[in-house]
Amino acid sequence: MLNICQETQVLLSRQFQQKTLAHAILLQGIEGTGKPALAKWLIELLICKYPISFISDLPDHAEISQACNQCKSCLLRKSGSYPDHLLLSSDNKTLGVDDIRRGNSFLEKTAHLGQIKTILIPQAQTMTVAAANALLKTLEEPSQNSFIVLLSEDLDSLLPTIVSRCAIYTIRPVVGEALLLKLKSSGFSEHSLPQNRAAMPRKLDSSFVNLSQLAELTDAATFQAFEEFNQRYLDYLTTGQSEPQLLIQLIENKHGLRWLEKITCNLVRQHYLTNGPDSSNSLATHQDGLGKNEISELVISPEVLNQIYQAIISSNKLIKSFTQANRQFVAEQLLMTINTIVRPST
Ligand SMILES: [Zn+2]
Repeated sequence: MLNICQETQVLLSRQFQQKTLAHAILLQGIEGTGKPALAKWLIELLICKYPISFISDLPDHAEISQACNQCKSCLLRKSGSYPDHLLLSSDNKTLGVDDIRRGNSFLEKTAHLGQIKTILIPQAQTMTVAAANALLKTLEEPSQNSFIVLLSEDLDSLLPTIVSRCAIYTIRPVVGEALLLKLKSSGFSEHSLPQNRAAMPRKLDSSFVNLSQLAELTDAATFQAFEEFNQRYLDYLTTGQSEPQLLIQLIENKHGLRWLEKITCNLVRQHYLTNGPDSSNSLATHQDGLGKNEISELVISPEVLNQIYQAIISSNKLIKSFTQANRQFVAEQLLMTINTIVRPST
């Protein structure tokens, strides 16, 4: 299991042991953060009759529970014949109402093994509105001993009514120092980092985020808006210009804050991946896979970018924790904070 998920594993293990796990569990995070592996671990744990524990790599040596892999339920699961788990995915682009109804009737029946029933929805954001509404009823009146695990890259693309009925666990990608530690623990010396990310070995590649994987960017108009947003943000970081335009986009574009978070996150990553940790603080970045021809020279240290990243995460939390949050106020404050971080003297 990826280290970056261990904190979430500890939290879920504790709730599992205390029997306080929510019936609907939403694992949220951008591609590459290990959601599928986390969901697999959790469902195996829920299925197991005699779970065991191990000590995590975390500084406080917290315990993580896991399936025993030996009990009857585990053996059935491993042989692919465990009857009380349902995977709800679709070959189509969307998950339709019929798929969700299949899940609902699965939950209505008694568990074969007389214990719990689990459902996994790996691409929750592909649910149609009708499907989401069908699921809503189940979330409102959960059947006994049932667990629904949903994965999504983006809360914005789910109905708020669904989100509000789930316990949400956000898995964030590693940046900065944590990213370096992870690289080192994966056996990479600081000087052997490949210049080209395409040259990265596969096992590492999965833990790095590629911005072009943002789901909404498959839409041409949104992609163009993203490029424009990206350029404005880089302008703002380097020159302090474009603030009014950036502010409007942050207020009016529902993806704005998330894009800001991801662009910043990738700037930090690109620095470490292309320069290694011992290079000078200057950051020369090109928009990998995004911009076609523009090359921006940024002279911002990764430490500063990390501070900006933290400020963006705080603003994102603020917006999400108050449904009535004044978006404009939060966006203005954030831009002021970023400006102070980048240009402390002004
Ligand atoms: Zn077991």
